[in-house]
Amino acid sequence: FLSHCLQAKMSRPVQARRLKGVEKNIWVEFVKLAATYSKVNLGQGFPDFPAPDFLTEALMRALARENHMLHQYTRAFGHPPLVKVLAQLFEKLLGRELDPMTNVVVTVGAYQALFCCFQALVDEGDEVIIIEPFFDCYESMVKMAGGTPVFVPLRPNPPKDGKLMSSADWQLDPAELASKFSQRTKAIVLNSPNNPLGKVFSRGELGLIAELCVKHDVLCISDEVYEWLVYDGKQHIRIASLEGMWDRTVVVGSAGKTFSATGWKVGWAVGPDRLLQHLRTVHQNSVYHCATIAQDAVAQSFQRELMLYGKPESYFIQMPKELQQKRDWLVQSLDGVGMKPIIPEGTYFLVADISQFKSDVPDVPNSDEPYDSRFAKWMVKNKGLAAIPLSTFYSEAHKNNYTNFIRFCFAKEEATLKAASDILQKWKQEKTS
Ligand code: PMP
Repeated sequence: FLSHCLQAKMSRPVQARRLKGVEKNIWVEFVKLAATYSKVNLGQGFPDFPAPDFLTEALMRALARENHMLHQYTRAFGHPPLVKVLAQLFEKLLGRELDPMTNVVVTVGAYQALFCCFQALVDEGDEVIIIEPFFDCYESMVKMAGGTPVFVPLRPNPPKDGKLMSSADWQLDPAELASKFSQRTKAIVLNSPNNPLGKVFSRGELGLIAELCVKHDVLCISDEVYEWLVYDGKQHIRIASLEGMWDRTVVVGSAGKTFSATGWKVGWAVGPDRLLQHLRTVHQNSVYHCATIAQDAVAQSFQRELMLYGKPESYFIQMPKELQQKRDWLVQSLDGVGMKPIIPEGTYFLVADISQFKSDVPDVPNSDEPYDSRFAKWMVKNKGLAAIPLSTFYSEAHKNNYTNFIRFCFAKEEATLKAASDILQKWKQEKTS
């Protein structure tokens, strides 16, 4: 009888309903595969080169300082020196006055800023428009908040002249985008420059999104973590600076991406108080604040950047220059082996077409797993090269529409990129010999 009672008790579900459908996380799976099998890891987005000296020196200064209080709690919504310098910087970028105490919130990485946005702004039954392909956590975070993601794809228009495709060739269909807005739409998530394609949305595209947001009274969660990583002289345009958008936009950013130190997990949200006050409520009831000493070192680094703003020594100028070279190098080497790259206008990432390598990894008809996912797993296990399948950046319903692509991260040392290229060249030779 006792064992029956115990069993009966244990059959009750332990997990909250909100976890249903969000249990899986592709990064957990692909990070493990890369750790187990890869010789060269171009999968997850992080640099393998050192963070800039000024950042590590700032951390050492923070540690060595007389001010032992940097080891203690700081202000919940952001260490004062950091919110102040972020406000100064964004005043310049957005062309409006900002109050560091109400228009900036510091979070544990951009990831937590996103989490705060969805928890604070999305209610049960609300719809949130997500542009595909998308950084995967948007979907799960919308669902955890009780909202319904509504997907709209960027559609590729391959150039007719036989040139390599660019991320700019992936575009929204204006009518299709407009058709996704309704009375139920609470927000749209914009990610420019976009992970995984590297697309940098043009002024015209942003204008279209802004117009629809204003027309339907919709909020915009603008994930701009790659804001400084834009190539070929392109300009990153901030949707919050477009007419009618400041009051309805939360800008999300990341010190990890800004200063090539993704493990630091310092991020922020910038926006109007009417929105940020609700992010603060989520923040104070969950994480409360992020490591003081890391915030202090990031604040010092932004102070440096503010002083050097627009000058050649600025990291915001040097870093994209270096990464553009890495991009070009990987573009060339992928093109050379026939893994056609889509040239990214921004970010750490490059998406490449695997069609010519398909014969090595045969398709399994009627499999639940998209082809590119099986391909990426086969590649890391058999060739030691880790990359991420593009289908992981699509909703379940659209996963099988784009299964001929994988994403590489090129924020890597030259030696790492060269090792990746060697693997691909050897593979190509084996195929042809
Ligand atoms: N947004 C995008 C588009 C990203 O690619 C990432 C990191 N891969 C994040 C947010 C999360 O940034 P952080 O590491 O600062 O939490």
